[in-house]
Amino acid sequence: MADKQAAEELERMAEVAATCTACGLSATRTNVVFGDGSARAQVMFIGEGPGRNEDLQGVPFVGAAGQLLNQLLSEIGLERSDAYIANVVKCRPPGNRDPRPDEIAACKGYLADQIRLIDPPVVMTLGNFATKLLLKEERGITRLRGRAYPWWNRIVIPTFHPAAALRGGASVLESMREDFALTRAVLDGRSEPQPEPGAGRPVEQLELFG
Ligand code: URA
Repeated sequence: MADKQAAEELERMAEVAATCTACGLSATRTNVVFGDGSARAQVMFIGEGPGRNEDLQGVPFVGAAGQLLNQLLSEIGLERSDAYIANVVKCRPPGNRDPRPDEIAACKGYLADQIRLIDPPVVMTLGNFATKLLLKEERGITRLRGRAYPWWNRIVIPTFHPAAALRGGASVLESMREDFALTRAVLDGRSEPQPEPGAGRPVEQLELFG
């Protein structure tokens, strides 16, 4: 698909999502926060769900966590415009509570469509929710990070959520820097994914996750 066509298709998906009422989060949102960035991104980032600033502006990762994400991107030579940024749920959970399983189930089709269309070589999952959804894993992010997982002809690199680094200090940030450096190495062809039995499901099965 040509670049312009892909961008238009992504725009159409966002227009459909803008009126979504598939779960209760639609009642309390200001804006649907569909995603931001290039339809031809080298790296896609998947967070948890919009916070207050994102809900107000309709753009993911614009608050303090977003500033840190921008910084980590620039440290590996990428701009936001080289990436695509989305969330597991597209509407803000009230009070920034965790997204509920029924809300994730109602929303994950949008994420599957975004991944299929953009087809990024590398997906970085930010925190537990995105990592568990893609890798279908019970283990938490602390155990899963630090490796590159083959995932349906793509590579998933899990890392901490930037908000965890803002709360958790230097060691969390240091781990995130290692994970971003791994992304750089994979993009440059300097590092191969390290297969792990059982990790990773085809994107085509995303809708089937229960
Ligand atoms: N945290 C997220 O998970 N997503 C955002 O868009 C902002 C903060």
